[in-house]
Amino acid sequence: MPPSGTSNKTLQILEAAEQHGYGVLAAIAYNVEHITALVRAAESRRSPLILQLFPSTLVQLPSLVYAASAACKGASVPISLHLDHAQDENQIRKVVETMPFDSIMVDMSHHEHHENLQKTQELTKLCHQKGIAVEAESGRINGGEDGIADTGELEALFTSPEEVEEFLGVEIDLLAPSIGNIHGDYPPAGPKLDFDRLRSIREQINGRVKIALHGTNDFSPELTKDCIAAGTAKVNVNKLLLECWSKFLKENAHLSIVQIIDQGIEVLQKETERWMVICGSAGRC
Ligand SMILES: [Zn+2]
Repeated sequence: MPPSGTSNKTLQILEAAEQHGYGVLAAIAYNVEHITALVRAAESRRSPLILQLFPSTLVQLPSLVYAASAACKGASVPISLHLDHAQDENQIRKVVETMPFDSIMVDMSHHEHHENLQKTQELTKLCHQKGIAVEAESGRINGGEDGIADTGELEALFTSPEEVEEFLGVEIDLLAPSIGNIHGDYPPAGPKLDFDRLRSIREQINGRVKIALHGTNDFSPELTKDCIAAGTAKVNVNKLLLECWSKFLKENAHLSIVQIIDQGIEVLQKETERWMVICGSAGRC
């Protein structure tokens, strides 16, 4: 049985977002300062949040997942813990057995279509046995992010209605469609999304799974709002939030370590709060 919206925290958060027409930031954290800033922003704005880690971070900083889990559980607003772009089957099996994630993106999109579906189905069953919700990518979103296999050599494939049905058939809980969104930075002309496709995917899904939007680097507030209005509940963000923190570090290396940590957290908290207001999730809990 897939986890129901009433028992899985990620699905509960997204169910409420869909019902009331707002989006929830699913924000990548690379370290404990990021986690602190993101959680403080959620509490300060009374907003739900999905905290995301990359599989590479589990290897680079093995203790971070436990800090992230404690932060989620201790927060005064709903915050769930999600593993983004898990592409290694062995790692997924280990994570499911040993780590406190509420949801996992089982990303087999680097495999050929039939194999992608088959592996997704098998791993989804495993996750559901532990009450973990599953996100999958239909079509193929091009580009690469930290620790994720770059699909640049492969052809980007827009999500088709047939694929949506096939993924619903393997009982995933969240779908990340390919609608012209890419991982990494967009060309100078900026993102060009196929909104008709996104709206028709939402109609086809008809509430059976939630929609996650990847590849939001360079998104404007308006474009983000349009995506939410067209059916996106989970708004994956990485550079969109974290760039301000990286910039702060580069410009303030002369400060003391304590000052860098404190002020860096503050900069990221403010930027996260701004995007929570844009997504409409502020003041919802
Ligand atoms: Zn992604």
